[in-house]
Amino acid sequence: MSQIKNYMEEVVFSLMKDVLSDINVCSCEKCRMDIAAIALNNLPPKYIVTDKGELYSKVDSLKQQFEVDVISALAKAAVIVKRNPRHE
Ligand SMILES: [Zn+2]
Repeated sequence: MSQIKNYMEEVVFSLMKDVLSDINVCSCEKCRMDIAAIALNNLPPKYIVTDKGELYSKVDSLKQQFEVDVISALAKAAVIVKRNPRHE
């Protein structure tokens, strides 16, 4: 079954752990989701049609192309959430 998927989401989630481990930011689910949402709003969506299983090999090759942009967007988003977390 084919699906439309924004592979930028996959790239963001695959790089998020590495970026956040370099930045001292809360890593609870709420903050991680906020960081992902802010980063994705600042990145162009990249929709692909994918069959299950095909996605990850594609993401690996495309990941390198956007890695620098995604890391930069994640770092900026992490700073925003760190300054203004939506919880105590
Ligand atoms: Zn948190």
